Amino acid sequence: MLLRLRQGLAPHELRTVIDEAGRQGATVRFLDDARTLAELEGPFQASARARFEDLWAVVSILDAKDAPELHQTVRPGAGGVDTIEAGHARFGGGDLSIVAGPCAVEDRDALLEIARHVADAGATLLRGGAYKPRTSPHAFQGLGEAGLALLDEARALTGLGIVTEVLDPRDVEKVGAVADVFQIGARSMANSALLTEVGRYSAEHGTPVLVKRGIAASVRELLLAAEYVLNEGTNRVILCERGIRSFDNVTRNLLDLGAVAHLKGATHLPVVVDPSHAAGRADLVLPLGLAAVAAGADGLLVEVNPRPETTHSDGAQALSPSAFVDLVRRVEALAQVCGRRVVRVAREAV
Ligand code: PEP
Ligand code: MN
Repeated sequence: MLLRLRQGLAPHELRTVIDEAGRQGATVRFLDDARTLAELEGPFQASARARFEDLWAVVSILDAKDAPELHQTVRPGAGGVDTIEAGHARFGGGDLSIVAGPCAVEDRDALLEIARHVADAGATLLRGGAYKPRTSPHAFQGLGEAGLALLDEARALTGLGIVTEVLDPRDVEKVGAVADVFQIGARSMANSALLTEVGRYSAEHGTPVLVKRGIAASVRELLLAAEYVLNEGTNRVILCERGIRSFDNVTRNLLDLGAVAHLKGATHLPVVVDPSHAAGRADLVLPLGLAAVAAGADGLLVEVNPRPETTHSDGAQALSPSAFVDLVRRVEALAQVCGRRVVRVAREAV
């Protein structure tokens, strides 16, 4: 690991770096007479980079390739490797899965109708929020436990696994009893108590955790949110790019496909894209979804609703059932061109 240090450090200030290296079991060699470039030789723990970053004497870490963090490390025996399975879905290793459903669970008949439709069209997981992270406290907050029960029923009916958001660390057990994949929403990405709690649950039960990028979060911040989950002893984290806030309001958010392509090389964790929340408009979900697959995404998360005019949340970005069928077909064709494939639920398994 290569550190750039402040100019003109006093001996006791330099000592803080040497002492930290000692605690880590690393050796230090200064590369210049002014002692501003320190080369450290490990082996390092996953915490090494953060510990040095925290030191006042350290200006920046110039190279940390020999001090990998958990998102760059596959922990033996902790489930998952670079492929994560959940029910019939598989993310990574050339396999793409499509996750679809309404924004929120609102009523039984509507949920079951959408679940049947997305299952027939090629989704492997059903998504729907029972707990909704709304910007306004006055907006519909989700059905809570009643919503979880409906998701359970939809799974029994269709065989689709369930992806649903957990908002509160106190609900992790309750949501975990129904979820095949936890969703951590964009507004919760920085909630370290929640990330820790789902990480603990995932380490014990194997439930994957899909972490959405925060509304104005950097790629590094997304990886460090994943790091909180991984730090509890699981490997089963899926990253999700869902657009970040920009100066332009022609789309709801700005889909950062550069981040998707970058993440595919920066971590072994699968990366999925949510074109629905990025676009905020149903007409842009298909082109953004295809672009995401071309950029290397291991799956898509899309909102589908046959009656967007009646929903409490995100109606404008919901695909119609027929538009969803079209999206799956085109994604399958594109995946094939890219040497990958879309996972389908085997007919006999339903
Ligand atoms: C959602 O998935 O419905 C949602 C609220 O997404 P995000 O957290 O990305 O805004
Ligand atoms: Mn939504």
